[in-house]
Amino acid sequence: MKSLSILGATGSIGVKALEIVRQFPQRFRVNALTAKTNVAQLAKQIVQFTPRLAAVYDVEHARQLKALLPLTAAVEIVYGEAGYIEAATCEDTDMVLGAMVGSAGLVPTLAAIDAGKDIALANKETLVMAGAIVMQKVAGRGVKLMPIDSEHSAIFQSLAGHGHNGIREILITASGGPFLHRQLAEFSTIKPQEALRHPNWSMGRKISIDSATMMNKGLEVIEARWLFDMDFQRIKVVVHPESIIHSMVVYEDGAVIAQMGVPDMKGAIAYGLSHPQRLPLHVPAPDFAQIGQLSFEDPDLERFPCLNLAYRAGEQGGTLPAVLNAANEVAVAAFLDERLPFTGIFPIIDRTMDRHCGKNCADLGQIIEADRWARETALSLIRRQER
Ligand code: NDP
Ligand code: MG
Repeated sequence: MKSLSILGATGSIGVKALEIVRQFPQRFRVNALTAKTNVAQLAKQIVQFTPRLAAVYDVEHARQLKALLPLTAAVEIVYGEAGYIEAATCEDTDMVLGAMVGSAGLVPTLAAIDAGKDIALANKETLVMAGAIVMQKVAGRGVKLMPIDSEHSAIFQSLAGHGHNGIREILITASGGPFLHRQLAEFSTIKPQEALRHPNWSMGRKISIDSATMMNKGLEVIEARWLFDMDFQRIKVVVHPESIIHSMVVYEDGAVIAQMGVPDMKGAIAYGLSHPQRLPLHVPAPDFAQIGQLSFEDPDLERFPCLNLAYRAGEQGGTLPAVLNAANEVAVAAFLDERLPFTGIFPIIDRTMDRHCGKNCADLGQIIEADRWARETALSLIRRQER
């Protein structure tokens, strides 16, 4: 029986993880759940999964959550960063699923590693911001770090049975998002509702916009650099609109090993939680005859320039990836609030990165300070445009 702390339980990944827990009650038990402000959903999850601890964003949401629970609910409610850390480090938790969105996942994930917990990581922003520190701690504590992102789960699976040697490159597949074939001239009129409609995957709001700009692929390139200790020249992106091949490893002899499946995060989440075992999921395999053909193309960097920003940040390293990530979070939120056009996202991140005086070898304090600085800078650039 594996005892889980699920950070971000009310999100797209968190909800799917709980479906897996419900399907395999003999394998998983829920020890702690967290959300930000969606206390209505968290309350239902607490009643159903009876965790020992629940954490929310602030004291007001803790109060609201308490009011929604039956008096008999034996759950301790905590809040704020200290509350999330408590959920991530609970004594009887074996594995922490990091499924919060954005930079909020960093500190609780690091705390979980320090506490010797195994990690199943969906929250790619943690590795983008502080990949070197995370991987160093993982090695130092000897904990397991399982990728949940479908591409990285695919690479992990395609590496099985092979040593780290003999790899020529990693090919990360990208669906291309909802605007793969939209004319560049029309990009400035894209509305949030359109950008949120991903053709293949159903995901949270922030990652859906990241997929539409292809920043998501850029973040995944940095994520792969750390998870698989691979330099950036050997991490390539190939657009594959059908999202059947989740990513591939090219070996030195020209052999390519790919992992395939229908686009459903359930497979990658279950694999991350149960590795090395595979669970009997009710997920169909792709019907290849029905699909007919799989197609591939190079990413169009003129239309999706965010991908280049991520390579630039990743290659420079230090605090710049945290700046890229923070400026992106701010720009995406402004686009969702209709304060910034779709085509305004890239320039805000680009200009914020240009203004940053980077530290090459950053400690956690410098990374957190760079994140704060980048948010402030990106916001002031957006405000200046609004005037
Ligand atoms: P969602 O937006 O659906 O869910 C985010 C979760 O995090 C919710 O539980 C939310 O709580 C909580 N949360 C949001 N902001 C904060 C905060 N500041 N502090 C604490 N908790 C917070 O996101 P997804 O599930 O789509 O994505 C989660 C992570 O997984 C992201 O890093 C994403 O990149 C990654 N990922 C997602 C995939 C997907 O298919 N969705 C695929 C691969 C990776 P509340 O509901 O209360 O707001
Ligand atoms: Mg992905």
